[in-house]
Amino acid sequence: MSADIQMILSRLEGVKEVGGSAWTALCPAHADRTPSLKVTLFDSGKIGVICRAGCAFHEIADAMGLTESAFFPTDRRKLRPKAGYLPASAMLRVLGDDIIFVASVLRTLSAAHEALGRDSPLTEWDVERFYECAENFALAQRVCGVAP
Ligand SMILES: [Zn+2]
Repeated sequence: MSADIQMILSRLEGVKEVGGSAWTALCPAHADRTPSLKVTLFDSGKIGVICRAGCAFHEIADAMGLTESAFFPTDRRKLRPKAGYLPASAMLRVLGDDIIFVASVLRTLSAAHEALGRDSPLTEWDVERFYECAENFALAQRVCGVAP
């Protein structure tokens, strides 16, 4: 286990491993009794945290006393070969992580607008198109054997 994920998990309570690279824990950003937080370590080194109760990413990071960069520890330049060829499957894995990152940003933006009593700047069509995009990625990953 990398030092980065160990540091993240050490700041959480009720941590339970639910797969090789996934854990559940009590969400530090709300009064959580049932573990609502899912922590995922991606191949790229990024660490995803999602609260089922809907806490925004920045609220979770704040409650853990961390900045967002703690969750994106990998120097992405290391993922890019200096010259030549990156297998499509490796690229798809990176892009899959990226789409999860974009989803968490969108969710944070929507939550921030809601907190201000404003309508989301995203239309229903935007959201539908985004999910279609995510499904296309998932399909491409399955076709290339990156995801089950
Ligand atoms: Zn929460």
